[in-house]
Formats: sequence, structure tokens, C-alpha cells
Amino acid sequence: MKLLVVEDEVQLADALSEILRRNMYSVDTVYNGIDGLDDALTGVYDCIILDIMLPGMNGIEILKNLRSEKINTPVLLLTAKSEIEDKINGLDSGADDYLTKPFVTGELLARVRAMTRRKGEIFDENKIQYNGLELHKNTCSVSYGGNDMKLSLKEYQIMELLIANPRQILPKERIIEKIWGYESDVEYNNIEVYISFLRKKISAISAPVQIKTARGIGYSLE
Ligand code: CA
Repeated sequence: MKLLVVEDEVQLADALSEILRRNMYSVDTVYNGIDGLDDALTGVYDCIILDIMLPGMNGIEILKNLRSEKINTPVLLLTAKSEIEDKINGLDSGADDYLTKPFVTGELLARVRAMTRRKGEIFDENKIQYNGLELHKNTCSVSYGGNDMKLSLKEYQIMELLIANPRQILPKERIIEKIWGYESDVEYNNIEVYISFLRKKISAISAPVQIKTARGIGYSLE
């Protein structure tokens, strides 16, 4: 899952991003409203954590812009205690939830999980599955039957993306955007290497799942 953190208090923004990374999210962090809007408009994020008081453009304006561009990425607003009016305004402008600063990490993570949960999904925060293949967040591993295999963080993130979009071709560009970000210089060969590791691990646990190559485009989980 890919998150955007827009927060001008650099220490808070960086600490928040680090906590989210440790919880297996890929995170982009920006420190002002203009960059926040630019990034949010790409529509590649699964959730945006958006401070209200920001230099350049405030969080409410960013939110209004996004919603008027029909970008429905879930938004969690960060508000100070004194900003009650902004909070109401924010929810009216299309925010999905808000969190009052200072907050505890556990609450932030719970809200992000709630906002990124897919509709109809049977909820287990530590596990998603496809055709019996299970991907475990807490152990960063895949399992099938009684077998399991550890994954690296990038392998985990690619597998998560594939399971979230089964039987659909995921273009390589989309995988790069979601996992490494736009400005990365990751090359297609890097992805091929991760995919080949994943295939070996999936076959080692005998899971009835395949990562197919759509030649010249990307991959699909079948
Ligand atoms: Ca601020």
C-alpha cells in the first residue's frame, strides 16, 4: 500500500513516515501544500495523511481540489486541538476521517488500516490471501498449507499489490510508481529480479498460484 504524508513539521512528518514504513507501507513525504497537491493529484495513493495548516496551500484547499478533480483517495486529516472549525470544514469537504494532534501511533495505524480496507473484505490486519496463498504482514512471509517462506520488504510489497489486483495485468510502471515512487531510478530489470524471486518462493511452498508475464506490459496473478 502506498501512502502520502503531507505535514510541514519536518520532525513529525519524518517520524510518522518512518513508523508507517516499519508497518510495511511505502510512503512519500512532502512538507508543503503545493507539493502535497501535486502528488495527491496523481491518484496513485491508497491513503493521504494531510495536515491542515500548511505553507503554500492549506489541507482543506488541497482536499477540495482533489475532490473536484474526482480523486477519491481516502484522506485522514491531522488537526490541532484548536482547529475545531477546520475539522468540521474538512469533513464537509470530503475528508474521510481526522486525528487530533498529538496522537498515539496505535490510533494512527488503526485509522489508516480502516481507511484502506477493501469493501467486503474479511478483516484480518495481518493477513491477505489469494487462492489459498496467504501473505502475512507480521512475519513478512507467504504461506500455503503448512509451508512458509520469508520475503524481503520489496517482495512483500509487490506480492501485496498483486493480491490486491488478482487476474489483472499490472503494468511495470504502475508497480514502480506504487512501490518505489515516481522519482526513483529503479529499472524494469529490478522488478524482473524481484518477480523471479517471488516465483521461486511461491513454487517452493507449492501454492497453486502463478505470476504470469504479460510480455512487454507487466504481470498478473493467476
Ligand atoms: Ca502544520
